[in-house]
Amino acid sequence: MAPTSFILDRREVGRWVGVAPGPTLVAVAGVHGNEPAGLEAARRVFARLERGDVTVRGELVVFAGNVGSLRRGIRYETKDLNRLWNEGRVAALRMPGYTAADAEDREQVELLGAIEAAIERARGPVTLADLHTSSATGVPFVLFGDTLAQRRFVGAFPIPVIIGLEEQVDGVLTEYWTRRGCVTFTAEGGQHDDPGSVDSLEAVLWLALHEAGLIDGAALPEVRDGHARLDARRGDLPRVLEVLSRRAITAEDTFQMEPGFRNIERARAGQLLARDRRGEIVAPHDGVVILPLYQGLGSDGFFWGREVSETRMRASWVLRRLGADRLLALLPGVARDPLRETRFVVDPQTTRMVPLEVFHLFGYRRVRERGDTLTIERQVD
Ligand SMILES: [Zn+2]
Repeated sequence: MAPTSFILDRREVGRWVGVAPGPTLVAVAGVHGNEPAGLEAARRVFARLERGDVTVRGELVVFAGNVGSLRRGIRYETKDLNRLWNEGRVAALRMPGYTAADAEDREQVELLGAIEAAIERARGPVTLADLHTSSATGVPFVLFGDTLAQRRFVGAFPIPVIIGLEEQVDGVLTEYWTRRGCVTFTAEGGQHDDPGSVDSLEAVLWLALHEAGLIDGAALPEVRDGHARLDARRGDLPRVLEVLSRRAITAEDTFQMEPGFRNIERARAGQLLARDRRGEIVAPHDGVVILPLYQGLGSDGFFWGREVSETRMRASWVLRRLGADRLLALLPGVARDPLRETRFVVDPQTTRMVPLEVFHLFGYRRVRERGDTLTIERQVD
């Protein structure tokens, strides 16, 4: 098998084409250059497939995300390659005569072309996995855009899956490819340098290969063991969480997280979570702290969420299958955006009577302020 330095020097880390046509799994690893664990996980999967006794249908292909930054061991050179995937920007990259201004422009053009070629070759449905690790220690988890197809897919992973986190930021890789018709998810394997993060991401890849239909998993020890390993890593944490709010901060806030929170951690009503220049920040009710900020600069102090029960998941599933979100447009102060069918324009006064949670139930989770109004958008189902 190729040494790591060789792998880091090219976009396509590996490709496995099955004996029979079938679904495609595209995995991207190292879209942040300081997160090479996903590449090592992929290398192990390919090494296992090389042994020849696993029957694969369709195609597995793995791409390095930010090749230049992976080589240098840095997150990115000029800008975050996982915030650049909005429609306007990608359209600009495609314009004839487009010239890249910096390293990440070049990386994005190449990665875009590589993923499109894989989709072009595909003779079945395409799933796209984006593999990450994090600076803080904590359990592995999965986040995804809230479409019903993606909800169904991530049910395969026995680690916490977080609904509504992807919608908090704009321009992430997975969101773009969801709009192109792929089923996508992002896996956070654990701390950057923890060898256990490679194990977790390898397990995620095996379970994804099985769930996407490339391999029959029941008989394969890698799938069984991977499931057991991830289940053990989850410990006492819930399987399904949803983000209710984001604690936005600026440098002037002098925000200070209380010590001791893992990347996902239950909190009791009234518990002290953090302090800033206005005083103490306490948990409004029983819930879960997600991705607390401990190091470096950032604009997210933490996310606040809660466990989602089976019942609530089922209720929201049924409502969405019925297309009941049509009823939201009948509420006073709520109108369908004429420019985009998947978006409501909402008078902020309305959210006093109709809390955002009602919109969440229908998958409308991308909340943005635009002038005097709010827009609340869902992903394309
Ligand atoms: Zn990352």
